[in-house]
Amino acid sequence: MSGVLEGLRRRLARISDLERAQSLAAWDERTQMPPGGAEARAEQLATLAELEHEHWVSDELQAALERARGEVEGLPADSDEASLVRVASRLAERARRVPTELAGELARASSLAEQAWVRAREESDFKAFLPFLERNLELRRRYVECFAPYEHPYDPLLEDFEPGLRTAQLEGVLASLRDGLVPLVQRYADGQGRKDALLHGRFPLERQRALAERLLAELPIPRDERRLDTTAHPFAISLSPRDLRITTRYDQGDLAVAVWSLLHETGHAMYENGIAPQLARSPLGQGASLGFHESQSRLIENWVGRSRPFMDYLLRLFREYFPTQFEHVQAERLYRAVNRVERSLIRVDADELTYNLHIVVRFELELALFQGELEARELPQAWAELMRTYLGVEVPDDASGVLQDVHWAAGLFGYFPTYSLGNVIAGQLWALVSGELDGLEEQLRSGELGPLRDWLRDRLHRHGAKFEPAELIERITGGPLDPGPLLTQLERKYEALAAGV
Ligand code: ZN
Repeated sequence: MSGVLEGLRRRLARISDLERAQSLAAWDERTQMPPGGAEARAEQLATLAELEHEHWVSDELQAALERARGEVEGLPADSDEASLVRVASRLAERARRVPTELAGELARASSLAEQAWVRAREESDFKAFLPFLERNLELRRRYVECFAPYEHPYDPLLEDFEPGLRTAQLEGVLASLRDGLVPLVQRYADGQGRKDALLHGRFPLERQRALAERLLAELPIPRDERRLDTTAHPFAISLSPRDLRITTRYDQGDLAVAVWSLLHETGHAMYENGIAPQLARSPLGQGASLGFHESQSRLIENWVGRSRPFMDYLLRLFREYFPTQFEHVQAERLYRAVNRVERSLIRVDADELTYNLHIVVRFELELALFQGELEARELPQAWAELMRTYLGVEVPDDASGVLQDVHWAAGLFGYFPTYSLGNVIAGQLWALVSGELDGLEEQLRSGELGPLRDWLRDRLHRHGAKFEPAELIERITGGPLDPGPLLTQLERKYEALAAGV
């Protein structure tokens, strides 16, 4: 590598180190820190974020990027060098558009709003949260204006999570999902009979923890490159491709919570674990987008974790740790229990069929807010109407309605759709891998995910953030983002379940 590129790499490595230090502080905050550390931790995180921002907007980085652009001219666009310069230039350009004062105000307002949200949700009181939400929205609108001109005011919000994706295209994808899923939910949500209590009962936490450690040990991430901790809202964080922090949560009365959270978060960690080592400590050393990230977690949680063959494997594990509950259970019963369709109020508890409708509700509300068609104070009513229309449920209070998720309190608008994009991409990948990977079904039956991991690593993981999502999906599948495979496979799955096959 030339001296010019080497110099740029060093600057970007420093920024990456600051970013990972924030991740470490955040991981610690959510898994280890005593409550007394909260105030100081907020300051520490803010300082690190400011330092990182200063690096991104510095004239020195501008100059280094300028020189590097000349240096990589003529190199193939998919080379590591050209990709590094292209992606870093885009990130630096975006950082420079946002005044430091606004960046700080966004962080401060969302921190205050999150605290207010916790209280408001406890008391199911949207009115108490409203002023904080209004402040977040006002600041986000100012943020959007930093990127004028744009085709749609929602575009700059999306760009932070899904580089290159435009609102118009996203609207099309989510509308097809909605139109495909609403009739499926109507067909399969009712008439399934009584709920199976198989995964409910008393599952001592110590046994659950042992089961989780064992399950993780059998999943394809090397033992000395990850650890598992407990948290209230599970997440996975990467401190480097070889230092993955996975979390899950345990519910004594519900075994499903820990197991499927763990599978989900391990999917995220497997993605980071597979990024090519030479991309680490650079803006390329992460997933391509939130949508792609979520595709990996959903693939492991749902396409693997709720598949019929994988039930054979899981049941063997369950019998080992909870013999009384599972001794006489058949895999088919477990399969049905974890694939039950239910019209429910809470997104994080939703099944594969209804989940994306929860996202559509939030997306349509966000669009209306940023198109100036809806005021924040009208949200509870608008929320209730959409839930009735798409899911057929009545929202009894704010806590199980508009206040259930932290995202808007955290100032994250444009984030929710990435969950559905993840499901769509996972559907496309699964259609492809099921046709290409010999013996996949047998491997799932024995809990052997190594070959699947290798396939994903070769097609997706190793590229890190080198390509924008649209280019990446094209490279992998030969076509654009397409909800078709997700809808077809879901329809087939639930039809077979209903027929008792
Ligand atoms: Zn996730």
